[in-house]
Amino acid sequence: MTDLKPITGQTKIFGIFGHPITHTLSPLMHNAAFDALGLPYRYVPFEVHPDRLEGAVRGILPLGILGVNVTLPHKETIFPFLDEIDEEAGKIGAVNTIEVASGRLIGRNTDGRGFLESLQERNVDLSGKRVILLGAGGAAKGVAVALAQEPIAEMVIAARTASRGKALADRVTAVAPRLKTSLVGVDFGPGFPADSDRPTLLVNTTPLGMKQGDPSPFPPHLLDPRWSVADLIYRPEETPLLAAAKEAGATVVPGLGMLLHQGALAFEIWTKQKAPLSKMRQALQEALSLGPLLH
Ligand code: NAP
Repeated sequence: MTDLKPITGQTKIFGIFGHPITHTLSPLMHNAAFDALGLPYRYVPFEVHPDRLEGAVRGILPLGILGVNVTLPHKETIFPFLDEIDEEAGKIGAVNTIEVASGRLIGRNTDGRGFLESLQERNVDLSGKRVILLGAGGAAKGVAVALAQEPIAEMVIAARTASRGKALADRVTAVAPRLKTSLVGVDFGPGFPADSDRPTLLVNTTPLGMKQGDPSPFPPHLLDPRWSVADLIYRPEETPLLAAAKEAGATVVPGLGMLLHQGALAFEIWTKQKAPLSKMRQALQEALSLGPLLH
């Protein structure tokens, strides 16, 4: 943990709107970054009930708040209260970052780019890869839209609820009309996946693996050493799926990377300075090492 500078008359505020918000690690990560660069800023969690979202957004400018992250359940419902939505947030259909620029509130989304950066730092090459995406919820949207804009060969969406899977597949097709996209269920019966030796990126965007005793989101015996396996879950840092992938000899990409990079990208949008990644990562790792204390 870092020692923060005292709050003075110069201090400016950043924050995160969510409900509930007590579990968030973003304040630790951003305050560590402000401290590392000697910036007179603080980042605080705001518990914003859905009924009060409009009022909270309307308060950003008059209170002089310089930037806000947006988390569940506001990532989609916040759209009508912003002055502008940038291209990426529009494609994803969700906002995770508000930039305050010349008195205007701009909705942006760093989740997808943050995910791509987490792959990059593990040297995952996306060219020609088949992507198998597990889950079709909120986080899957950012990941799918970002991947669809990369030179992947194919995307297979495995969704429990077919209508949600179809909505995600339609979103992907809107972004990448020529990408081969298909929808499967989550039973992964015999024959799935065809040619398992194909270079594949498997991404778990379901919450399966957060709780002890959760079933695996994907049959571990199907994992192949030529695969890369990413899990969006960051608590625990190593999920059973990642442990199985490691055991199978696959490249693993833990969810901490996406959490870190989406935060670093927001930091750079707000401050126009390079994010101190190692300090931010250290703050996250220290918090996670405390286990459930910060839940
Ligand atoms: P969400 O909107 O509730 O979506 C969850 C998805 O998982 C849905 O498609 C859901 O299917 C599916 N699912 C849930 N339980 C399932 C089960 N038992 N079997 C099969 N599918 C199941 O949640 P989210 O916001 O996308 O978050 C998902 C996970 O990503 C969470 O663990 C969250 O912590 C993590 N996350 C990580 C980061 C990061 O920075 N690393 C960022 C965002 C989220 P249905 O549609 O059928 O319900």
